[in-house]
Amino acid sequence: MTGMARMTKELGTDTAITRGQLFIDGCWRDSTSGRTFNSLNPATAKPLATFAEANADDIDQAVQAAKRAALAEAWTSIVPKDREEILRDIARLILEHREEFARLESQDVGKPYKSALEGDIPGAARNFAHFAGWVTKLYGETSPVDPAFFNYVLREPIGVVGVITPWNFPLAIAAKKIGAALAAGNSVVFKPAEQTSLTALRLADLAQKAGVPDGVLNVVTGFGEEAGDALVKHPDVGMISFTGEAATGQLIQKNAAATLKKCVLELGGKSPNVVFADCDLDEAVTWAYSSAFGNQGENCNSGSRLFLEKSIKTEFLGKLLDAVEKTIVGDPMSEQTTMGALVSEEHLEKVLSYISIGIEEGARLVCGGGRVEVDECAGYFVEPTIFDGVTNDMRIAQEEIFGPVLSVLEFDEIQDVIAQANDVQYGLAACVFTSDIVRAHYMARKLNAGTVWINCHGVVDPNSPYGGRKLSGLGTEGGFEGILEHTQAKSVWVNMRTASRFES
Ligand code: NAD
Repeated sequence: MTGMARMTKELGTDTAITRGQLFIDGCWRDSTSGRTFNSLNPATAKPLATFAEANADDIDQAVQAAKRAALAEAWTSIVPKDREEILRDIARLILEHREEFARLESQDVGKPYKSALEGDIPGAARNFAHFAGWVTKLYGETSPVDPAFFNYVLREPIGVVGVITPWNFPLAIAAKKIGAALAAGNSVVFKPAEQTSLTALRLADLAQKAGVPDGVLNVVTGFGEEAGDALVKHPDVGMISFTGEAATGQLIQKNAAATLKKCVLELGGKSPNVVFADCDLDEAVTWAYSSAFGNQGENCNSGSRLFLEKSIKTEFLGKLLDAVEKTIVGDPMSEQTTMGALVSEEHLEKVLSYISIGIEEGARLVCGGGRVEVDECAGYFVEPTIFDGVTNDMRIAQEEIFGPVLSVLEFDEIQDVIAQANDVQYGLAACVFTSDIVRAHYMARKLNAGTVWINCHGVVDPNSPYGGRKLSGLGTEGGFEGILEHTQAKSVWVNMRTASRFES
């Protein structure tokens, strides 16, 4: 059996994703250089798929196709309800292929199949369905100006939107970005993360089936430093919608400056989870566990800094340890598994190095701290890890680890915990657990984060805005603001002075 045939068998499907090609202008084609790259299954550490490696020429071809499509009748003059139908069909097709998408996502990312099936994939469909609804609701406005003139505002698409995504929720994040961009009438050049391109290519296939015109959605696989960089710097791209690390976001904004393109940046986090003694302890433990260890801790809004009020700390930690003991780290395809593999060996090394840093900094390792051997899976598994005795100046309290490593800090005074929670370079999200309604809302006002969850964590919906403060990002996804980000206003002035002739 050849390597490619073996991969095809493992992927279990004979579609675009096994061809290892780029999707440009509605056609599948090799990269101009002929170069390809492999991705591994993080659970088995074995080759999973081969992808075309796009360079600046490929990006240019994709952008030119997207530019033509953005101006073409097929997209500009489409009846809004028909564009809405196309987006709804993408949502429907994703759900029809739910098991296949979940398997691809699990094999690519290392996350449990079950969580992809129940979370990522319906979430992706929900995003397309949500943004479908906006197509017919993106009204313009009239402005109250001097009656000698009539002023109205058109909400026009920006043109070509470059979408660049990370590897932790590949399809769900792509859906949020592409759904919004297409709903507002833009065309898209989408570069998925090099570690996880499978569902991106399958999405291209299904979007074409749903009736997305050629060139409106292009998918180019490749590396950030070459393909991503070329997309960011391309003069015909009007906007970059990026999710990834803060350092990459900073570089992207700098590189986009020469062509003054708009950047929406959804970046990293180090979110505080503040637990007051008056909360429902068992509930708070359940949320604290999923917030720290859900998706292997590879979660931008993970509550990775757990602030416990001193009087409940021992009891809370005991209950949290009970929950951690029930974790089943294992084969992501197994029904029983609750925690899968980290995405790559490089990422595993980064997470393990932070565990060493925590020990060197003098934090107390309460549980975990090492790799896990999983039968018949030679991949990158790490134990859920908790450090107690962490102080806010330690690197493990300040830097994003992006793995299953939780830092526990204690407090006994509300102003002190507010100051500590906000004393970090990120501002993506925060959680508060308390049964005092006034305290809860007071905390929501004081925490400097784009999202505050009260007595819960990680609830998202495309109806609600999502975006980071400080180094966690710029701009908004979701909600009314999220769709407006993908439009540009045009102010039209009409001289009405001669209307007086109708009155004489
Ligand atoms: P990353 O920044 O390394 O890569 C993200 C994407 O950027 C990839 O597609 C990569 O190829 C591309 N890229 C890299 N260098 C580039 C360059 N110079 N120009 C253009 N593109 C470039 O991030 P990652 O490791 O894939 O993802 C993890 C990060 O994503 C974490 O920091 C996490 O917090 C963040 N994240 C944020 C959110 C959010 O909504 N705020 C959601 C998910 C993940």
